[in-house]
Amino acid sequence: MQVPLLRLQCGVNSYDWGKVGEESCAAKYAATTAAPDFTIEAEKPYAELWMGTHPSLPSKDVETQRTLLDLVQDNQALLSTEISERYGGRLPFLFKVLSIRKALSIQAHPNKKLAEKLHARDARNYPDDNHKPEMTIAITPFEGLCGFRPLSEITQFLQAVEPLRRLIGDQKSSEFEQIVKGNEDSDDFEVMQRNKDALRSIFTSLMESSPESIEAATKDLIAAAENTPASFATLSDAAETDHLQPAELAAIVTRLNGQFPNDIGLFVFFMLNFVQLAPGEAMFLKADDIHAYISGDIIECMASSDNVVRAGFTPKFKDVDTLTQMLTYSYAPIEEQKLEPTDYPYTILNATAYTSGSSSTLYDPPIEEFSVVKTDLIRTGAKATFDPIGGPSILICTAGRGRITVGNKTEEVQEGYVFFVGAEAECVIENTESDGGDDNVFTTFKAFCELTGKEDMVNGH
Ligand SMILES: [Zn+2]
Repeated sequence: MQVPLLRLQCGVNSYDWGKVGEESCAAKYAATTAAPDFTIEAEKPYAELWMGTHPSLPSKDVETQRTLLDLVQDNQALLSTEISERYGGRLPFLFKVLSIRKALSIQAHPNKKLAEKLHARDARNYPDDNHKPEMTIAITPFEGLCGFRPLSEITQFLQAVEPLRRLIGDQKSSEFEQIVKGNEDSDDFEVMQRNKDALRSIFTSLMESSPESIEAATKDLIAAAENTPASFATLSDAAETDHLQPAELAAIVTRLNGQFPNDIGLFVFFMLNFVQLAPGEAMFLKADDIHAYISGDIIECMASSDNVVRAGFTPKFKDVDTLTQMLTYSYAPIEEQKLEPTDYPYTILNATAYTSGSSSTLYDPPIEEFSVVKTDLIRTGAKATFDPIGGPSILICTAGRGRITVGNKTEEVQEGYVFFVGAEAECVIENTESDGGDDNVFTTFKAFCELTGKEDMVNGH
C-alpha cells in the first residue's frame, strides 16, 4: 500500500492587498515548492497560499503532479471513509497562509442556510453553497477588526467623533444612546435583543450614507486626526475609549484612508473591535460575524468555501443589504473574540523536546471541520510523535528545518514545505537544524479533521 505522506505544491493568489515580492510569506512559502514557471516578482503583490482540494486553486502532489482532489477521490482511505462520505470526497477544510499589506474587505461569511439561498440567487458572486467559519493564527504581528465593540465604546465614539455621528444621523444616534444607556452590560435576553436592534439601526444607517456625505465626513475626520492627534476621538472627561492611545488611533485612521480614500470602512472602524494578535495568538470567526483584516501574516483555516459578503475596504462586489441583514450584532470586548489555545495531549515529545520546552498547542474552534495544532520543536534532535487520527491532515513548516516520517517514508522539511498526511497514519517530526545553536526552533502548523468525539455537534449548526 502507498504510504499516506505526500509533499504538496501549492498555488499563491495575487490579490492587490497582498504583501509585495519577497516580503510576502505566502510567496516565499509557495516558491519553495513552486511549479517550474513560478518566480517571485519584486513588484507584485502575493496574498494567499492555498493548501487543499478547493477547485479554484487545488494543491498537487509534487511527485506525480496529480491534484490532491484527484488523489483523495481515488483513494477514500486517505480522508477516512466517514469523512469522505460526509464531505463529498473533498477535504472538509481549506488551509491558507495570508500575507496582508493593506486592509481587506469588511466582510462576513453566511451561515449554511443563507449560503444556500445566496448561491441559488446569485451563483456568480456566491460561488459556494457552504458556510465558512474561519480561524486566524498570527505568524507575524497582526491587526484586524472583529465583531462589534462593547456598547459603551460605541456610545463614546458617537459623542467624540462628530463626523461619525453626522453620517448616522443625530436622531438615530440619540435613540441608540437612550436605548442602551445603563443596559450596556445587561445579560437579560430581551434587553440584549433591544440593544442589538438599536445597533443594527445605527449600523444600517451608517452603511446607507451617500458617497458625497462620506467624502465630506472623511475630510473632517482626517483633519482632526492630523491636527489634534493627542485628543483624537476622545472626550475630555471620559475614560479610555480604546486600547490604543488617541495618537495611535489617529495614525491608523490616516493609514486606512491612504489605502481606501473616502471609504465607509473608515467609520465602521469605530463600531468594531480593533484586534492586535501577537504571533501564536488566534481568533475564531463564527458564521455571520463581521470582520476585516488590516495587516500581518497569518495562518488561516476555514470550512472549504469561498463565500464572502463584503461591505467596505474593497473594490469587489458589495452587498450592503445582505450584510446588514445577516449580522448577529453581538457585541463583546476584544478578549472574548480571541480563541485561547490549549495543550495538545496527543503528541509524544522525546527527551530533547521535553527538556528544551518544546510544545504542541491546540487551536480547537467549536465546529467539526477543522482544528489546528502548532508544534515548536526547540533544539536539534527534538522530536514529536503525533498519534494517528481518524482523518486527514495538512502540515506546513513556517520556521526552521527538520524531517517528517510517516510509515517507512521520510522527507526533508524546510520553511514553506507543505505535506498531506492521510487518515490513521502515525506521523513523526524532528528538528534537524545542524548549525542553529541551542535555541533554534522548527515550527509547524498542522490542520486536521477528526469527527470522533465531536458527534454531539454534527448537524447541530
Ligand atoms: Zn473572512
